[in-house]
Amino acid sequence: MTQELWTAVDNYFAEKLLPPDPALDHALEASAAAGLPEIAVTPHQGKFLNLLAKLAGARSILEIGTLGGYSTIWLARALAPGGNLVTLEAVPKHAEVARANIAKAGLGGVVDIRVGPALDTLPTLTGPFDLVFIDADKQNNPHYFQWAVRLAKPGTVIVVDNVVRQGAVANATSEDEAVRGVRALHDLIEAEPRAEATALQTVGAKGYDGCTVAIIRE
Ligand code: SAM
Repeated sequence: MTQELWTAVDNYFAEKLLPPDPALDHALEASAAAGLPEIAVTPHQGKFLNLLAKLAGARSILEIGTLGGYSTIWLARALAPGGNLVTLEAVPKHAEVARANIAKAGLGGVVDIRVGPALDTLPTLTGPFDLVFIDADKQNNPHYFQWAVRLAKPGTVIVVDNVVRQGAVANATSEDEAVRGVRALHDLIEAEPRAEATALQTVGAKGYDGCTVAIIRE
């Protein structure tokens, strides 16, 4: 199986399931034009996040890792009436591009972008959040998960992106900081009595990776 096939299948499902979306397309185009790295979630992953937020009936969402606001738009669109989303971004230029993209999507009134290293901005937040999406520097995943649990309530959904890393997560002796961060995260989840979780391996237009989805027990 090849990347070409995975992309073709993603495209097939996109034609069937994801209608054209000028605001999301614009967010990707404007991010690329501003020189941001092309590491946003794929459209299918964005829709998956959107569906999870709707299933959770989310009124408050926390995102760690904004980039150009692509996943932010998918998530904010799923907010229940009166809801809001806080997104944390370390790089001011990324936050600036995201702010414009989010405004263009008509979501400026419900999205609050906090600029700075997430470990500095997380202590300023008041929960609880109904859904937390963790998608920033992978070596800090264990800290982000601990914050997510601290800011959670029973039923909170926590999603962590890029946990498979082309299979490298299975390498216990990896010296890659991101892999070590992802493995340390799963050690924490294993030991966390308030959480139950699973991890899904995925292939698609952005290769082989996956996400972990956890829920805080009732
Ligand atoms: N969630 C975005 C999407 O799918 O559209 C992609 C996020 S990108 C993978 C990761 C983002 O996290 C980058 O914009 C990066 O600048 C930001 N980031 C990295 N380290 C961070 C930190 N310590 N605190 C906050 N943001 C950070």
